[in-house]
Amino acid sequence: MVDLGQQYQGIKEQVNTAIAEIMQTSAFINGPQVKAFQKELEDYLGVKHVIPCGNGTDALQIAMMGLGLEPGDEVITADFTFAATVEVIALLRLTPVLVDVNPDTFNIDIAAIEKAITPKTKAIVPVHLFGQCADMDAIMELANKHNLYVIEDNAQAIGANHTFKDGRKQKAGTIGHVGSTSFFPSKNLGAYGDGGAIFTNDDGLAHTLRGMVNHGMYKRYHHDVIGVNSRLDSMQAAVLSAKLPKLDAYCNARRAAARKYSEAFKDEPNIVVPKTVNGCEGICSSCDCHVFHQYTLKITNGKRDALIAHLKEKEIPCGVYYPIPLHRQKAYLDERYKEADFPVTNQLIQEVISLPMHTELDDEQIAYITSTVIGFVNG
Ligand SMILES: *Cc1c(COP(=O)(O)O)cnc(C)c1O
Repeated sequence: MVDLGQQYQGIKEQVNTAIAEIMQTSAFINGPQVKAFQKELEDYLGVKHVIPCGNGTDALQIAMMGLGLEPGDEVITADFTFAATVEVIALLRLTPVLVDVNPDTFNIDIAAIEKAITPKTKAIVPVHLFGQCADMDAIMELANKHNLYVIEDNAQAIGANHTFKDGRKQKAGTIGHVGSTSFFPSKNLGAYGDGGAIFTNDDGLAHTLRGMVNHGMYKRYHHDVIGVNSRLDSMQAAVLSAKLPKLDAYCNARRAAARKYSEAFKDEPNIVVPKTVNGCEGICSSCDCHVFHQYTLKITNGKRDALIAHLKEKEIPCGVYYPIPLHRQKAYLDERYKEADFPVTNQLIQEVISLPMHTELDDEQIAYITSTVIGFVNG
């Protein structure tokens, strides 16, 4: 699904030198590399504050702690996503409220959010799934109207742009009150271990978060708030500094691969290619809204599971993100959830399949993958 070894060849010298230097100085935690990366990412994203932390799940949790959300507060998020999002909501004894998603973009459905808002609702957590922003115009409008926080889970869409209705562009993760991301190795900006970060333009919140990631300490051994231990280590920061200047090129390589996939599939019955929010189906060359963390097809003739078995036989990796909706996961069962409220998610889990997607895919691989998929689904 990903080819991190090949990508390493392009940054090998810089990474090896930086890591050797960290070994020499032994500044494994809180070394100068962490501050440097923080500044570089702030500049890249055009956001006032980046707070590095241990991983993307912690980033979400700490963001919610920093906003002062309290037990019983309702937090609305998508049913069709990775469990980390709902996990931290539940862990903090907040009340997760799962809602359905949009069948074209796979992102949280605006009408479903609106329907789920109650006097107890305190926040919305849009997940920018598979590499493109949820409808942030509508989400910010709803949040302003109902006085809610917006926490963007940007683990899959770092580098993506959101174009507002008025034409203004802003980086994914920097639009809501706070945003989070993950540097898990297979994410679009991946470290060589765990890592994550929180983004905000709010000075006060940034100060709170910086203490929270480090045991609630603002002055050594003075613990002003309950915090956690969640740090990005120096080696991961050095790897990320080597990769960040290449992030836009990485995004473009993913888009180019997505365009080739979609060109091959676009006229095929029973195969639906991913749509971008711009409506260009990922095949327009100027699109910067989607960074294709995943390239996800819908197989509409019931052959998805058979296709998975066939691809396995042909040694083509593939994945189903996600096979079980969160509202049916044992840990998050709630009698409020009715199957009829999740028609889109319930259908997507039967139809979606993600194909290999990374920065090193070549034309030969894409041709082999697309002809194998088409031959089986429509053969
Ligand atoms: C990967 C991911 C996370 C969690 O990130 P980790 O760094 O693995 O903790 C959270 N949300 C989404 C949508 C993700 O894809």
